[in-house]
Amino acid sequence: MSLLEVDDIDAFYGQSHILRGLSLTVEEGQICALLGRNGAGKTTTLRSIAGAVPPEVRSGEVRFQGERITGRDTEDIAMEGIALVPEERRVFPNLTVEENLHMTQVSRNRSNRIGRGLEAVRETRPVEELYEAFPRLDERRNQQAGTLSGGEQQMLAIARSLRQNPGLLMLDEPYEGLAPQIIEDVEDAVRQINEEGTTVLLIEQNAAAAIKIADYCYIVDQGEIVFSDTAEALREDDEARQRYLGV
Ligand code: ATP
Repeated sequence: MSLLEVDDIDAFYGQSHILRGLSLTVEEGQICALLGRNGAGKTTTLRSIAGAVPPEVRSGEVRFQGERITGRDTEDIAMEGIALVPEERRVFPNLTVEENLHMTQVSRNRSNRIGRGLEAVRETRPVEELYEAFPRLDERRNQQAGTLSGGEQQMLAIARSLRQNPGLLMLDEPYEGLAPQIIEDVEDAVRQINEEGTTVLLIEQNAAAAIKIADYCYIVDQGEIVFSDTAEALREDDEARQRYLGV
C-alpha cells in the first residue's frame, strides 16, 4: 500500500472538466514531484487531494494510508496528516516568526471546540526542532513575518505546516519568485524534513530544481498524467522534458 493513492479522479470547476482520470501514488519516505506547464492541472490535483473546494471531484477516489478521503472536508483531511502549503505562502505579516510558529495553536483549539482534539490525533512538533531545519528562521525569531524575504516567508509557511507533524507535506510551487541561492536553502530544508521522515509531494514550474531533489516524477498535461518515472529517468529523457515541460 502506498501512502497516498490518487485513483482515476475527474475534477471539475463548474462545467470545466480539468482532471481527466488522473492517477498517481506517493510512497512513504519519497519526495515526489508533479510537473507540468501552466494550467496543466497541478494545483487542481493538490486541491483535490487536500479536499479544498473548488474543485469538485466527481469520480475516482483519493486514499491516504489506505483510507478513502475523497469528499471529506479539508480540516478533516489535515487532521489525518496531510498538510498543504499553498502558493501564496500564508503567514501572519504583523506577527513575529516565533508568534507565527505558535499560531497553529489556534487551529488546535478550534478543533478541540468541535470535540475532536487534534492534540490527541497528532503530536505537535516542538518549535525548537523546526529552527534546526530552518536556521534562517532561528536567526529571525523576533522579526515581523511581513518584513521577511520571499524565501524566508516560504520557509516560515513550510515550518508552520510542519508543527502538526504531517505524514504528507504538499508544496505548491515552493520556489516561485525566489533567487537561486534561496532556492537552495529551501531545497536543503525540504531534504532535511524528508530525511526526518516526512513524505513530500511538490508541484513546480521550475522542473530542473524539482527534479534535483525528487525521487520520483509525474508530468501532468491537460489534466492527464503523461509521464511517470524516477527523477533520474526524467533527467535523461530529453524528449519528455522538451515535449511536456519545454525545457
Ligand atoms: P500553474 O502552474 O499556472 O498554477 P497548474 O498546473 O497549477 O498551473 P491549475 O491551477 O490546476 O493549473 O489549473 C488548471 C486549469 O483549471 C486551468 O485552465 C485554470 O484556468 C483552471 N482553473 C483553476 N482554478 C479555477 C477556478 N477556481 N475556476 C475555474 N477554473 C479554474
